[in-house]
Amino acid sequence: MRDQYGREVDYLRLSVTDRCGFRCRYCVSGSGASFLPEGDLLTDGELERVVRAAASLGVTRLKLTGGEPLARPGLAALAARLGAVPGIRSLTLTTNGAALAPVARDLRAAGVREVNISLDTLDRARFRALTGVDALERVLAGLDAAVEAGFDRVKVNCVTGEDLDQGDPAALAELARARAVDVRYIESMPIGCGRTFRPVTRAALARRLAERYGPLIPAGERGNGPAEYYRIHGFAGRIGFISAVSEPFCTGCNRVRLTPDGQLKPCLQYRPTLDVRALLRGRAADGELCAALREAIWQKPRAHCFAQPAAGERLEDRPMSAIGG
Ligand code: SAM
Repeated sequence: MRDQYGREVDYLRLSVTDRCGFRCRYCVSGSGASFLPEGDLLTDGELERVVRAAASLGVTRLKLTGGEPLARPGLAALAARLGAVPGIRSLTLTTNGAALAPVARDLRAAGVREVNISLDTLDRARFRALTGVDALERVLAGLDAAVEAGFDRVKVNCVTGEDLDQGDPAALAELARARAVDVRYIESMPIGCGRTFRPVTRAALARRLAERYGPLIPAGERGNGPAEYYRIHGFAGRIGFISAVSEPFCTGCNRVRLTPDGQLKPCLQYRPTLDVRALLRGRAADGELCAALREAIWQKPRAHCFAQPAAGERLEDRPMSAIGG
């Protein structure tokens, strides 16, 4: 369906849990883990009902995210269930990759088409400092397993921040050299604890990549969302940039998000505008659920305001891990 600004909204990002063993500095605030009570999370049945309603409104693409989606027991079974909803044509997953290796094949068999693995540095000590976990090897094993499992695409998401101490993010591009793995650079966004980091801009990064590997050639292809892709001579995979801060893409934004506790967020920067869980648990009829979703999507904000930090009660104040990035 279209929102009031004429944007086609066909992409739903479902955060299936707020649990995550990583404490990425730009994502999770504080060191102590405080998660939602189990009963606050949407059940598999509730998630399926939301997806059915969203699909009836024109959503065709689903992303499973979190928290760490693999921390939700039975994720492959849930994926199969959601991917089977009529109208859903694309089911993808974003994970920290640490627990991916043993389940990669099951997820592929369940119908997950693409996997994004978050990885911000290839330096073990920096990885541990950045995430709070000594898991670089497990993440790289997850990446290998994803490539072997035969997903349509495997992508590495690297968040860049000037003061993240991640070494040179351009070094991550090596992962795209020998195998068809796309490496995407995401400017750190001022959401939750991400507010304290300055992104490495796309222009700066593109310069460093070109100095190191040669010219970036526009690939002229787009995926589910805002990434712009480039090829480098001799590389099997592509290089992508997601530059929400320096080059906002709100005019083409096609997505809405559902938090693990069932709150609909039509824009990442603003608080949820619809309590879907209350509707589900209040026994709303399908028509009522669809009408509420339609209205919330219609009211999707025109744009984020990362560039002019604005105060206001409508602005999101939770960390990305609690929202579903
Ligand atoms: N745990 C999974 C993972 O690591 O991919 C899924 C959840 S994580 C919140 C989803 C994505 O959001 C990751 O690629 C992560 O790097 C990104 N992210 C988190 N905080 C961010 C921020 N402040 N700015 C930009 N991206 C962020």
